[in-house]
Amino acid sequence: MRHESPMTMVLPEQQVRDRVHRLVPELWHALGDLVRHRSVATTPDPPLAVTAEAIAEMFRAAGLSTATVETITHGTRKSAPMVLADEVAHAGVTTVLLYAHYDVQPADESKWTTKPFEPTERMDENHDMRLYGRGAADNKSGVMMHLGAIKALYGDRGALPLNIKLVIEGEEESGTSVLESYLADNPDDPRFKADLVIVADAGNIERGAPTLTETLRGIVAADVTVETMAGKVHSGTYGGPVPDAFMALVQILATLQDRKTGDVAIEGLTQYEHAWPTVPEADYRRDAGVLPMTSLIGSGTIAKLLYGKPSVTVTGLNGLPLVSGAANVLCAKARARVSLRLAPNQDPDEAYAAMAAHIMAAAPWGLKPVVKQIASGAGFIASAGEHQQQIERALMEAYHASSVARAGQGGSIPLVNALRAANPEADVVLWGCEEPSSHAHGADESVSQSELEHMTLAEALLLRSVMSPIPIQAS
Ligand SMILES: [Zn+2]
Repeated sequence: MRHESPMTMVLPEQQVRDRVHRLVPELWHALGDLVRHRSVATTPDPPLAVTAEAIAEMFRAAGLSTATVETITHGTRKSAPMVLADEVAHAGVTTVLLYAHYDVQPADESKWTTKPFEPTERMDENHDMRLYGRGAADNKSGVMMHLGAIKALYGDRGALPLNIKLVIEGEEESGTSVLESYLADNPDDPRFKADLVIVADAGNIERGAPTLTETLRGIVAADVTVETMAGKVHSGTYGGPVPDAFMALVQILATLQDRKTGDVAIEGLTQYEHAWPTVPEADYRRDAGVLPMTSLIGSGTIAKLLYGKPSVTVTGLNGLPLVSGAANVLCAKARARVSLRLAPNQDPDEAYAAMAAHIMAAAPWGLKPVVKQIASGAGFIASAGEHQQQIERALMEAYHASSVARAGQGGSIPLVNALRAANPEADVVLWGCEEPSSHAHGADESVSQSELEHMTLAEALLLRSVMSPIPIQAS
């Protein structure tokens, strides 16, 4: 007599759809709970461990009994708590690694319509329910996609013909990932080895348009310090002969962009060509909140400027009081943090060297600014592996669409490269619920309920499609 091992059973597609649909209220509620966790990586004592533990408990309850909170030490640095799981069903079956992050950007409450850490539901003009809150999209929605896909597939059954590894980190937004540098030095750590890597930290090109993100920009950042005097002195008594440190710094910063075109003016940076879809100017303006009188800058299409070219921003400044505390003193020492987004094919070390050389050369009046590197992460260019067709099909089936868009993302997810380096043969899927109207990193961040459902379904269908048949055991 033969009978099937429970692991041979794969749920019919319709059942996966039904299950995901029924799970939505529960996922929506759990996402709200996660938004209440103020897991802002850059504040003192953020409740990272508490958030991680809450997530681990959700996954244990969903059937991943191995989900635990761990930290990783690399050199002298210890990572933020991360949720790891290693669910081994069978040695010969596909191993999938599910990645998301639970840390969030800070939120300036004065700019928000509702409180950023109190999840709030509102229907939008398209009759789509949205959940507002910091991290609702970036990236707690990604945590929910993984949770929902696992719940839909495991349901009441025990093991599946699929090995699942979970990596939910808490330092993606901090700009310095211990896990990333650890992985670069330890690419063979079995906890991060997989045949398929699903990064649920991207989004569709617009709501309802199934999209695979195929490129990411990289990033380097540096602090530039200019010092001209031993200390502050009266601007009337001494101002004139001596360079004010802030004004000197401004001279340097102003050279980072071409004054006419607005292009990054640092020599030697790369650009990358790719068949990105068109980004309509009106959509871009609306989503970014560009004021009507502001002209766009830079040479090339909006897609190329966003995904394939470098861009430069000053993200922090020391040395001057706020305007409300302005005083008639010369600035003796000023520091700016310069952040440079990189084309997907740019080597970050080369970009940093070019930026540092540019800054040194741009310093006026014989000044010698001090340039210190703060962050560095390579971009990403997807390559099609053995699961490419299943990935596209799952996404199309989830949206009942006949094609998928192939987009880029202007932001950086440095860990993606580290995961790929650790798994050079694996497909790396970049998708998620962070479509443009979710305003990730901005005020009034939100996530669409229909996107959460469709993307969870896409992930569940993908996991279903890569389940390997297990030999039926005779007994
Ligand atoms: Zn993110």
